[in-house]
Amino acid sequence: MNLEKLPLPIQKLLIPEYSGDVVYECIACSAPYALDQFLYTCPQCKSLLRLKDQRFHELKKIDGTVWREIFDYRHMLREEALQGIFLFKELLFPSIPLQDVIYLGEGHTPLVRSNPELSSIVAMEFFVKNDGLNPSASFKDRGMASAISFINYSIRTRGLTEVLGICASTGDTSAAAALYLSYLDKKIVRSVVLLPKGRVTPQQLSQPLGSGATVIEIPGVFDDCMKIVEQLAERYQVCLLNSKNPIRIMGQKSYAYEIAQQLEYNTRELVVVVPVGNAGNVTAIMEGFIDLYSLDIIPALPLILAVQSVHANPVATWRSTGTYTPVSVKPSVAQAAMIGDPVSFPKVKKLVEDYYAEAFLTVDLQEQDIIEGMLEANRHGHVVCTQGGESIAGLKKALSQGIVKKNQTVVVDSTAHQLKFSNFQEMYFQKNFPGGYNICPQDTFINKPVQLEASSAAVAQYLHLKEK
Ligand SMILES: *Cc1c(COP(=O)(O)O)cnc(C)c1O
Ligand SMILES: [Zn+2]
Repeated sequence: MNLEKLPLPIQKLLIPEYSGDVVYECIACSAPYALDQFLYTCPQCKSLLRLKDQRFHELKKIDGTVWREIFDYRHMLREEALQGIFLFKELLFPSIPLQDVIYLGEGHTPLVRSNPELSSIVAMEFFVKNDGLNPSASFKDRGMASAISFINYSIRTRGLTEVLGICASTGDTSAAAALYLSYLDKKIVRSVVLLPKGRVTPQQLSQPLGSGATVIEIPGVFDDCMKIVEQLAERYQVCLLNSKNPIRIMGQKSYAYEIAQQLEYNTRELVVVVPVGNAGNVTAIMEGFIDLYSLDIIPALPLILAVQSVHANPVATWRSTGTYTPVSVKPSVAQAAMIGDPVSFPKVKKLVEDYYAEAFLTVDLQEQDIIEGMLEANRHGHVVCTQGGESIAGLKKALSQGIVKKNQTVVVDSTAHQLKFSNFQEMYFQKNFPGGYNICPQDTFINKPVQLEASSAAVAQYLHLKEK
């Protein structure tokens, strides 16, 4: 829609002019660092960094109701750079000029109301926010859109002639990084991903290969790959694209903004269920809601229900025992979250201490419940991955424990597309899970193709069709 057709008072606010003053800030010693470099830890105390807009308070001059109108009307504009996560540019990453924004179709994923039968199985109605409907089929695209826009901006403004983007991955970070990097100038940008060999699905492996990235397979699990890229980022000139890079977190805050917008900014009695691996996403979602709350765009912070598998549950264990200890992971169908020592844990801890307190809940789940959460949802008109199944199973468990209540509005995060994880469905249907998973397939869920001869009579007979 044409800008001139929208209400006058709001018109001048629709193309964002505010550029803020964004710096890296250490989460421990609060030291600020300029954004003219790629930085992941505090050079002084080695703690994690977050991004801080030092002029954020100026945004408070605009009323919460006006912000809501800005975001809602912006949806109607054809301005390309504002079509994705940058719709929320002032909160998300104000200092990137629109000309540098890379938009590949990410964000604005749907909220889908749970099917009635599934609702009765879970014991309440809820919404699935399907982040599998992003370009590389996971939420990682949100963070990658902001990180790659920043690289694009840095190339233009700093005249960089060589950039090597690198990440460790449980599968989806590498798919997203490789996709977004492949959009940039190949004479300048190289793309490298490190994967734990045999620990990403075939679809996830095919994605960075298809995008032309250098794919390096390493024996071990994600945590081993992460250590390597962390050391590389300390010593060499590389751009780390894991969620340790706070610019990733910046983009992933859009998930929270969108939920608020899709619920018409009514966040009272809201619960958001998030599967937790490296804890970047849950950090981003919590930070996103804090932004909205501090600008009066929403009336309350939601409850966050973080879900993990018992095979990789350092955050849930921290919450129930009060002590954080890295765990060594066992095989999990929620493989994208199979992380024993989440890099962003210190951020989670701080956000819980400073803002969420009792509003941060955790449950951990058996592998059987996770996979059946996925199978059940997919049999009822939903498209969820194993981590989405984990979210649904987590909601069910939290309800039965009374920590989530039926009168609340629940949004369940399905973090990736079902098709990325079809090998786990396959193992279930073929009853060939390796022992480490502790999954015992039940016949009620199993589905297999039927072989028939090529005749309508054979098909009709098999289906017991009645003649007209
Ligand atoms: C990365 C990922 C997760 C875990 O997110 P973190 O930010 O690492 O906690 C969950 N689900 C899917 C599908 C993922 O790709
Ligand atoms: Zn510091």
